[in-house]
Amino acid sequence: VTCFRGRSVALFGLGGSGLVTAQALAAGGAHVAAWDDKPTSRGKAAEAGIPVVDLTAADWSSFSALILSPGVPLTHPAPHWTVEKARAAGIEIIGDVELFCRERAAIAPDAPFIAITGTNGKSTTTALIAHLVRSAGMDVQMGGNIGTAVLLLDPPAAGRVHVVECSSFQVDLAPSLAPSVGVLLNITPDHLDRHGSMENYAAIKERLAARADLAVVGVDDDWCRAIAVRLQAAGRAVIPVSVERELDEGLYAEDHVVVRKAHGRRIVLADLAGIGSLRGAHNAQNAAAAIAALEAIGVDEQAIRRGLASFPGLAHRMEQVGRAGKTLFVNDSKATNADAAEKALAAFPGAIHWIIGGVAKEGGVQPLAPLFGRVAKAYLIGQASDAFAATLEGKVAYARCGTLDAAVAMAASDAAASDAAEPVVLLSPACASYDQYPNFEVRGAHFRDLVLALPDVIPLGK
Ligand code: ADP
Repeated sequence: VTCFRGRSVALFGLGGSGLVTAQALAAGGAHVAAWDDKPTSRGKAAEAGIPVVDLTAADWSSFSALILSPGVPLTHPAPHWTVEKARAAGIEIIGDVELFCRERAAIAPDAPFIAITGTNGKSTTTALIAHLVRSAGMDVQMGGNIGTAVLLLDPPAAGRVHVVECSSFQVDLAPSLAPSVGVLLNITPDHLDRHGSMENYAAIKERLAARADLAVVGVDDDWCRAIAVRLQAAGRAVIPVSVERELDEGLYAEDHVVVRKAHGRRIVLADLAGIGSLRGAHNAQNAAAAIAALEAIGVDEQAIRRGLASFPGLAHRMEQVGRAGKTLFVNDSKATNADAAEKALAAFPGAIHWIIGGVAKEGGVQPLAPLFGRVAKAYLIGQASDAFAATLEGKVAYARCGTLDAAVAMAASDAAASDAAEPVVLLSPACASYDQYPNFEVRGAHFRDLVLALPDVIPLGK
């Protein structure tokens, strides 16, 4: 990226993506002063030829910008002092998505760029959009928060579609983010530790949609609905998406059928029934948003329908892991908050053997009470066990299992013994994993291993 050619920039955070950012800046002719409070990360950067400079002692007046690596949590104490230094020096504070946007503006401002944000469903929708673009035979580059750092992707070019998942943090650090299509799925309380108030969190997410040539906005929560109304009032192009009600304008889902109204007539765009990776109303929201984005870049309906049918889904999100007799095992380890777990419960009519627990978010599973009737029994693991037991007491049968090993064993045997037609053993923990696992991926992989080690399990999926 050449936007800092010949100038000095401070960069904090030398984990994987920070390193990539530093290298991209240096290759574009910037003088990078990189720092991390972890000596091992500094060592790796120095080995890779990145100039490591002690930013605690540096002269900040020489820098044009502070680049924060996407891996750096703002709750971490170190970036606070870097942010304070940058503010005192009056320089901008930006991230890698901003660098990508400036590069695109310089080399291919009209190249299609679809950016996706929201509280839940970002990765699924990003992967789905990229899959649909690819299956329509187009050149696609997918990255951002979902995996590959944006600066590692092939650069923007005519006819190449960039599909980029943006966390709020990345949007916040990308003042010139102006995608061709901006997808804003939903806004519910999460990460408030990082963003302060709900107003602030919503305002950051709104920016992605507000500066897009075309905004696709889920209108099923109050925050997003207000945003869609504001954007429309300001004359912006908006496609609203709903899975809760019929819309005269935009796309909506009636169960698993995605529909648009044109001149008062219902036009069926896609039927998601039978697509296991897109089960549940929340996935109808993701699919409807993806369809709107694909239409916006000129992909025809037939190609979209074909692509939907072959979407493999993402690991740890309602991933169908295996079947033993009539029992289905589903890994939804990614459900780290109650809202995500709610979608999982809502996707099955009943007989759910529900494994929950870990480190709970504020409010715990109390908001899921309307769906407790679908739960045959809950299996509690980790730190949240006491709090969850108190919430479930008298409403749902539960067992304290402590570990995932014990929970899977007990849930599998209860499900096998039940007389339900299609019992489900569902790991959708409504909790962060860090009391027992490094991250949700390791938790989900452990669940998958435990399930596949059960007798008589037939593996499903990839
Ligand atoms: P993100 O990348 O935003 O964290 P994911 O696509 O990884 O989202 O899905 C995370 C969890 O949220 C999954 O467990 C899934 O059950 C749930 N989820 C997926 N899409 C939605 C949606 N549109 N609304 C609410 N919850 C969703």
